[in-house]
This record gives sequence, C-alpha cells and structure tokens, in this order.
Amino acid sequence: MSVTPSDFKQQTTPRDPETPHASVSTTSVHGGEARQKPSHAITDSVVLASTFTFENTQAIISFIENEEDRGEYGRYGVPGERVVERKLAALEGAEEAILYSSGMAAFVGVLNSVLSQSDEIIFFDECYHRSREYCRKHLARFGVKTIDVKTGDYDAMEAAITPKTKLLVSESPTNPHLSIVDLDRFAEIGKQHGVLTIIDATLATPFNIQPIAHGVDLVMHSATKYLGGHNDLLAGVVLGRKEILDPIRTLRGIMGAVNSPHNCYLLQRGLKTFGLRMKQHNENGMRVAEYLENHPRVEKVYYPGLESHAYHGVAKETMQGYGGLVTFLVKDADWQQTARIVDAAKVARIAPSLGGVETLIEQPLVMSYFQCTPEERAEFGINDNMIRLACGIEDADDLIADLQQCLEVK
Ligand SMILES: *Cc1c(COP(=O)(O)O)cnc(C)c1O
Repeated sequence: MSVTPSDFKQQTTPRDPETPHASVSTTSVHGGEARQKPSHAITDSVVLASTFTFENTQAIISFIENEEDRGEYGRYGVPGERVVERKLAALEGAEEAILYSSGMAAFVGVLNSVLSQSDEIIFFDECYHRSREYCRKHLARFGVKTIDVKTGDYDAMEAAITPKTKLLVSESPTNPHLSIVDLDRFAEIGKQHGVLTIIDATLATPFNIQPIAHGVDLVMHSATKYLGGHNDLLAGVVLGRKEILDPIRTLRGIMGAVNSPHNCYLLQRGLKTFGLRMKQHNENGMRVAEYLENHPRVEKVYYPGLESHAYHGVAKETMQGYGGLVTFLVKDADWQQTARIVDAAKVARIAPSLGGVETLIEQPLVMSYFQCTPEERAEFGINDNMIRLACGIEDADDLIADLQQCLEVK
C-alpha cells in the first residue's frame, strides 16, 4: 500500500514504544497540514485576524449548534494554531493538543482547570522551580494542598494519595538532575486510585519518550525548548484525550494565554526539522557526557545515557535517546571558580533555556537560584560547583573542544 503524506494528518492511536521513530520526520513535515492550501501555496498562510466574520445570523447559529471548526474570535483559536495542534498531537500519538503562549501558561491552565478548593496534588520533588512556586505559593492561596515526595519513590507517592488527591505530577527527565520516571509504574498508580497523571516531558520530547503509550493521561511540553527549537519563540502545549482536554480548552479561551498567528507559524516551521534536530541533540548530549565523565576536573556527570547515572536502567527501558541536556559538577571548585569556567565558553552561549539549535551554558546557582538561601539550594540539590550544558545541534567535536578549553581555566 502506498502511503501519502495526507495519511499523516492525524495519528490518534498511542505511539508504539517498540517502533517509536516510525514516521517521526514525515509527521513533523506533513502532520496536521492540509494537502491543498489557500493560493495553492505549499506553506500555510499566516492569517492575521483577531476576529472572523459570519455571512449572516443563521451562519452564527449553525456554527454554535454544529460546533463547526472555524474561526470566531482570536482568543478561542486561530487557523494556524489548529494546524500546529494537530501536528503536535500526531507526533505525540495523542487525541488532542491545546497550544498555549508558554509552557508555564500550559501548566497553570491545566491545574486551574482540574483543581478545586481543598483538592490535593502530589509531585515528584525535582521539578521546574516555577512549577513548584506556582503550586506552593499560589494554589495554596486557594486551598489546594501540594505534597512533594522524593523523585522516584513510587511507594511514597502512592502512600500520599487521599480521597482528595486529584493529580499526580512529574517531569521526566527532571531538571537539572535528569532523573527518569518509570512511566508504566507512574501511570499505574494513577489508574489504581482513579487519579489523573501528568508528565512534563519538555526535556525528552515525543522523540525520546511516549508517556501516553505508557498510560499517562496528560503530557505537557514547553514548546519554547526542543519543539520550537530555535530559541526564537515561547509556547506551551498540553496533550491527551479529548474528554479531559475539552474543559481545559474552554478555560484557555477565558485566560487568553494564546499565540499570535505569527508565533504559530514559527513553531510550525521549527517543527519541520524536529526529527533531524533531535537526532543531533541526542548524539551531542551523549558525546559530551562521555567526554566529561572521563575528564579529571569533573567530579560527577548527570546524564541518563551514562551507565553511572542512577536512573540509567529506567532510561534504557523507556527512552529512545537521552536528549541534549548534561549537568556536571566541577571537582574542588567553589562557585566563583565554577563561574570562571562558564565565562570561558566560546561556542556555548551563556543563557537560560535549552532545546534550541545554539548550545547554552549556565550555572544553576547563579541563573535560577541566586536569591535562594543555602538551605533552599541544598533542598533543591543545587550545588555551588554545578554547570548545566544544553547541547544544541553544532558539531560534537566543537562542543567538546570548547569544554576542554573551559576546563583549563583555574
Ligand atoms: C522551560 C520549562 C518550563 C516552562 O516553560 P516556558 O515556555 O518557559 O513557560 C516548564 N517545564 C520545564 C521542564 C521547562 O524546561
């Protein structure tokens, strides 16, 4: 049977973890897109409209009654956004996707929709610091209780479940320690207790893990990172079954955390090379991690592809590649010596974020935790001598040469 690109419009079945890369690049290029487009253009149009017209009153009534998929008002969605949502859903093997203006907007959008007063959520404790801050500081104001359990302690997570528990939350891999969640086990705990599960898979992307195929209910990504891939846009996405996402989408229409048509197009364009880019990120991450592990000035490397990593076993089972993020500790260095190593970088650029074509380097203590107390940093596992390298898609040899000269700095 011959396969045409229009067959890749929508892939509503969960992806098969056994053949995870079947058609990833074909789906990245063609998924979600119409075969024939306005003006016969090969690319989608950027429709710059905040509102959409109806021919007459009957057309409005028909739109409402038949839930027609067409534009109404920009805050409820724009045409370019639907294309990206369908492409992302196809890549993830999810029924539906909802696009947001940032990863945090996606996270806050889901939590605000799913949770009510006196509900409880349980977190694996290694997580993006703003996600934790939102739960502890802001959801607490509305009577939602956040319980942290140690990452990877499934028994503690299960024991913390009460009749009020609504959501189990984790990242995989976590940041910056790159701990890996056993997705089958995580999903199973949720199913056993009738609690929704969500994985923030930003660091893995659908190229490296398929949480939905493992039974997880919801997946979210900061599309600002690998999905957009070029350090030139902010976006977020939540994916899962339509019945779960419908009320979340309704709330997004009220929040208004949507993308401009131009931003949607940038994301669509970035996604065309998703498969290619991920291969290079994975290769660079692995090469750099192996180099660092053998360097005499390096005390420890966190990278799930290394056998020395605490979660290598689970990673090997659940991941098809280990991503571009590598965290390491410099031997016998205080925070200022560590900063000098970061400052010496010539290829890697000093910046927060990850997942773009440019390699980025940062010292978590300075970049994200400078205003925390030493006790808080100890709680979050942020060491003074820690460096986080987010490999881009440059040549691995050049990244290694850059690190080599950085590590010569005293
Ligand atoms: C960056 C990031 C976020 C937040 O996404 P934004 O697009 O910056 O809002 C959430 N989770 C993880 C794991 C991230 O790396």
